[in-house]
Amino acid sequence: MTRTIRVAGIVLESVTDGPGIRLALFCQGCHHNCPGCHNPETHDPAGGREMTVEEITALYNSDPLLSGITFSGGEPFLQPEPLIIIADHVHAAGGNVIAYTGYSLSQLRKLQETQPGIGHLLDRVDLLVDGPFILEERSLLLPFRGSANQRVIPLNEGEGKTLAEKINSL
Ligand code: SF4
Repeated sequence: MTRTIRVAGIVLESVTDGPGIRLALFCQGCHHNCPGCHNPETHDPAGGREMTVEEITALYNSDPLLSGITFSGGEPFLQPEPLIIIADHVHAAGGNVIAYTGYSLSQLRKLQETQPGIGHLLDRVDLLVDGPFILEERSLLLPFRGSANQRVIPLNEGEGKTLAEKINSL
C-alpha cells in the first residue's frame, strides 16, 4: 500500500473544515475543474509536495487539541491508499474523519467497483461532504460548504451522525 501522498497544504488547527479543532489535509491533484474553484493550484497531480503518512500521523499526534482530521483538496479520492492508513491512525487515536470530494457519493460507489481503495476509504470516513463546487449555487451561509448542492452525508451512525447533527444545528 502506498505510504506517500502528494499534499497541497496542511493546517494544523483548522476550525473551518468541520466541527471542532481539526488537522486539515489538502490533497494535491483534482480533475473536476469546477468553474470558480478557489484552489486551482491544487489541480496538478504532480504539484504540491510529497509527504509520508508517518509525517502526517506524527503531526496529528503532536497536537492534543485535535478532535479529528479532514481530507480536502484537491480531490482526496485520487489518493485513497495513504488516506486509509492515516484515517486508521486517527480513529485509533480517538479522532474522527471528514472527507470532502468533488464526486457524488453514488459516483464514488460506482468507482469503487474497479478501484477498491475508494471503498476502503469510504469505510473509514465518518462524514462525507460530496459534490463539486457550483458557482451558481455558491453560498456563504452554509457551514463548511461552498455551494448549496454539496451534501453533508454521515457514513455511520456513530461519529458520522454526531458530526452531521453538529453541522446541521449551526
Ligand atoms: S473539486 Fe474542489 S479543488 Fe477540485 S476543482 Fe472543484 S472546487 Fe476545485
